[in-house]
Amino acid sequence: MKENVIRTVCVKLDINGHNATLTDTMKMFNAAASWIAQTCWDENITNTNTAHHRVYGETRNRFGLLAQLAIHARVKAMEAIASVKKKKDASCPQFGPCGSVRMDNHHSYTFKPLDQVSILTAQGRVLCKMVMGERQRTMLTDTEWENGTADLVWRQGVYYLHVTQSKEKPEEQEHNDVIGVDLGIVNIATDSDGAQFTGEQVRTVRARYKRQREELQKVNTPSAKRKLKKKSGKEHRFQSDVNHCISKALVTKAAVSRKALALEDLTGIRERITVRREQRYERHSWAFFQLRQFISYKADREGIAVILVDPAYTSQTCHMCGHCEKANRRTQSEFSCQRCGFTMNADANAAINIKTVAVNQPMVSPLGRCVVRVDTSPLL
Ligand SMILES: [Zn+2]
Repeated sequence: MKENVIRTVCVKLDINGHNATLTDTMKMFNAAASWIAQTCWDENITNTNTAHHRVYGETRNRFGLLAQLAIHARVKAMEAIASVKKKKDASCPQFGPCGSVRMDNHHSYTFKPLDQVSILTAQGRVLCKMVMGERQRTMLTDTEWENGTADLVWRQGVYYLHVTQSKEKPEEQEHNDVIGVDLGIVNIATDSDGAQFTGEQVRTVRARYKRQREELQKVNTPSAKRKLKKKSGKEHRFQSDVNHCISKALVTKAAVSRKALALEDLTGIRERITVRREQRYERHSWAFFQLRQFISYKADREGIAVILVDPAYTSQTCHMCGHCEKANRRTQSEFSCQRCGFTMNADANAAINIKTVAVNQPMVSPLGRCVVRVDTSPLL
């Protein structure tokens, strides 16, 4: 079966005075989804078909939802159940009145001329205007991508449409070279050509959020708690934006130069003793994993190969003479070879080692991925 790649286009809506209609729809949809979740949870229903027959008619009667909305309320409920069931001590998922509303293309939402979208609500269809930039317009009209389901999302008084698009995964393009990428916190990403995305701005903003968080925690009133929640959402979105920009820059660079990307392979990283303590912390933060995720799915969409290499010693090995010693990395930022005296930014040196390992790495063997270590013999 052919694999698909997906992406999401977020568009702000000008709701044309349909506020009450949309708010009602959201409320009803989420109340229905909560009821469905509770019913299926209590009756231990996990099969989609069984769930449909059990709740469909009653959902429509109880909540007055139209067919498409009733079906998607069930989809939302069952997806949430499936995801919490994986956890220990799970409890039945419930949804707030402002939770998102899932809609399918053509039936529940339809694009109309002049940047308009028709949305199916509990009171019939309403026409909203999409407030779009050039980038979003290009994405939505790109015929290579097919528009799928969309989520109607409410955030702080504003409605958004999050449209999911998909296309067939492109064939991996042939590459004649590799860009090695070292990921970290001080320098979020450094590539083997020396290009660097520093974490300076990210750290400043995070420090500001941390201060504000601490102040609000001291106050500890309901309104402070609300503000705290809002702030944490903002901080997450800021970090995601940063990760989107960096991953996009790296993948675009690889695409235009027809190169593959090489990253450190972090499977089993917890068991490794060769990774420095501060790196261990960095590598368990969600932001760090999110960036890796963004790079790999953006690369997938463009048909860029991502090669994973063993991270052992990439930060301690001199890329000039191959000498590997802990003392080579004197500080976080400084690499200074104890044998040949070569000095360089430590992350840039690591990125070059990652590239070297990737270039020399044998192709996948029938037994699975073959991993080569950077050893102490000269690499170049
Ligand atoms: Zn050296």
